[in-house]
Parts: sequence; C-alpha cells; structure tokens
Amino acid sequence: MEKKKIIIANWKMHPLTDKEAEKLFVNLNKLTSRNKNAQIVICPPFIYLERLKRLSRKIILGAQDALGGDVGPFTGEVSSQMLYEMGVRYVIIGHSERRALGESNSFINKKIKGALSAGLRPILCVGEEARDESHSYFNFVKTELEECLAGISKNSLPKIVIAYEPIWAISSTQDRRDATAHDSLEMAIFIRKVLSDKFGSVAADTRIIYGGSVNEKDAESFLGGGGVDGLLVGKASLDTKKFVEIVKISENLNK
Ligand code: PEP
Repeated sequence: MEKKKIIIANWKMHPLTDKEAEKLFVNLNKLTSRNKNAQIVICPPFIYLERLKRLSRKIILGAQDALGGDVGPFTGEVSSQMLYEMGVRYVIIGHSERRALGESNSFINKKIKGALSAGLRPILCVGEEARDESHSYFNFVKTELEECLAGISKNSLPKIVIAYEPIWAISSTQDRRDATAHDSLEMAIFIRKVLSDKFGSVAADTRIIYGGSVNEKDAESFLGGGGVDGLLVGKASLDTKKFVEIVKISENLNK
C-alpha cells in the first residue's frame, strides 16, 4: 500500500467566487510545495476545477460527485469521463450530504463503477447517523459497504478510498459531537474486516480514511491512533493555515 498518508479537502459548496477559490488554492500550493510525504487531493466545486488544474501540477484534483459514462441525456450532471479528460483523478461518491438528497446505495454503486471505468479513483463515503448501545451501526456500515461495492472486482478495490465519516461528527450536523481516535480505530478495523471477507487479501492494500470535523488540533490523534491512512477534511480545509498544519502533521508522521 502507498505509504504516504492521503489528505483530502472537501470544499463542499465553497467559496463563492473563482477569485477566492484561486487564492485558497494558490496559497495551499505555495505552503505545501516542499511536501513529499503526504498526498494532497483538493475537491472544489465543479466550476473551479479547470481553472485550478492550470495552477498546479503537484496538487491532485478531485470532484465532489460524478455520474458514470461519457456523455448522455442527463441534465445537470457531469460525467466521470469528462472529469478524467480535464485532469481530475479522484471523486467523492456517496457523501452523506448527497445521500440526504436521496442517493441510495445502489445508485452510488453505479457511480463507483462509472468512475472506475473512466479511470477515476472513487472516495466512497460511509458512516452512520448515530451510535446506539446495541452497536447496530456496525451492521449499517457493513450494508453500505456491501451494497456500494457490489460487483466491484478484487483488482479494482485498492483504487477505491473508503472514507469513514460518522454523520454525528460532521461539522454541519446539528448538535454534532466529536468522534475520538478510538471511534475511528474500531470502525477502521471493522471496515477492513468486511473488505477482507468480501475481497480477500487486497483489502490490506485499500486506503481507509477518517472524516468528521478534523482540525489541526486533533489530526495527529486520528492519524496516529485512528487506524487510518489519511483524512477527509471539510470545514478546516477552507482555512489555509489549518489545512497546511494538518498536511504538516501527516508529513511528520510519515518521516
Ligand atoms: C465532510 O463532510 O466530508 C467533512 C469532512 O466535513 P467536516 O470536516 O466539515 O466535518
């Protein structure tokens, strides 16, 4: 497996203007230019991708969603193939904010297949809405994994990054609470076991990352004790100082 930690920024529907997007990206690029030990992926809104692509060869770009295929009669959609042609290499699929708009596991499964056949690396988001004492959230995540990854070949699995994002810890969730490195660790172990039962030894080569209000203060504990190969960062990725600090923490852990 790639030894470098992967740090993925999910800008969501921010910022408002292309000038602001460019400024954020240029600053990040400048401040992380010496980085060799962490893989950085920035996922801005679609409309900024092309402009940002021209600004750095070092930072990898990801999209926040994509439909499979190349072209077709799908009003309002952007295809995986179009993104690949533009130079995008990763795509977030199945984010809880999209699932809340009605995306099902089977729809997400189709998107993952479409992304893979276009050459994109999917970042599949899974995670429970709440934790209960009977631990049924493990089964919930298992079903998400099994249904979203149905029909995916063993060879393709290591191209997929699994992002464990407990919805109750995401910054935009009302009455959210902090997850701990232990919460991440137990789920990362569980996810790897589900993958290994389904796909065998290639599960060891699949990156599992954590996301949910990660910031510069707790990144070290998630990366050090959370059993994960990287982080998906939302809110803190819009703050250059915080995001650069998170990248530095992950670089130092890899040295
Ligand atoms: C996300 O929703 O993907 C995410 C990581 O958000 P935040 O860090 O803001 O909780």
